[in-house]
Amino acid sequence: MAETAPLKNYQLASAFTYGPVKSRRCGMSLGLNTLPPDVKVCSFDCPYCQCGWTEPTAKGRGVGLKYPTVKEILGEIEARLAELKAAGETIDTMTFAGNGEPTLHPKFREIVEGTMALKKKYYPKAIVDILSNAQTVNRPAVREGLRLLDRRIMKLDGGNMRVIEAVDKPLAKFDLPEIVEGLRTLGDVTIQSMFVAGPVDNTGDEDVADWIRCLDAIRPVAVQVYTLDRHPADKRLKRVPRARLEAIAERARKAGHTVEVY
Ligand code: SF4
Repeated sequence: MAETAPLKNYQLASAFTYGPVKSRRCGMSLGLNTLPPDVKVCSFDCPYCQCGWTEPTAKGRGVGLKYPTVKEILGEIEARLAELKAAGETIDTMTFAGNGEPTLHPKFREIVEGTMALKKKYYPKAIVDILSNAQTVNRPAVREGLRLLDRRIMKLDGGNMRVIEAVDKPLAKFDLPEIVEGLRTLGDVTIQSMFVAGPVDNTGDEDVADWIRCLDAIRPVAVQVYTLDRHPADKRLKRVPRARLEAIAERARKAGHTVEVY
């Protein structure tokens, strides 16, 4: 991403699928949303979030929010896949992301199970993955769902609670050693880490050292390092220059990790 390219806008999903969009990393990628349409629901309130701030009613699992049923979600995914297939479209990746933290849907495991069956039927070669903030990684049913996926891309933006509190603002219990252990024992995880500058900054040498110590404990299959691409909730945040991201990645590579900057 060019450092001078303007930040993009992001639109909350108003359905359970969105796209597909073409990306360099994932090819043709179909987005999957398990959360209520047009509402952000998250257990974090990251100042860098492209979906804006988490509204009080949508914190954690959301107070009084009506979640879509498994049938509604899978029905829409199937209809979209059938449509794309009939149109001769290629789908390389199907990613659970959408309007916040996908694992907060109370029937997350069942949704993943159904989606894996649909992938087999329509696009057996596609990779089904997730972007998760990892806050729920120790819930047994969530772990079962995560393990059914082809790839788990899990967030870790810092290696100490001072950074986590500033960069992610957890709205539900987040015990860093427990989360790190949960990620380690989940196995086969890709860690995705956002670095930001400005009034919130997680690029300091000591903070990066703490982050690498967590990576050492988790032993992820890969690490993705990135910075702002879309307008953040806190408009004062700044992108981290590419050279600084590369320097952070290089330190993690020296510790034996496979790191991609994008
Ligand atoms: S975890 Fe993701 S969706 Fe939730 S606040 Fe952070 S960036 Fe936004």
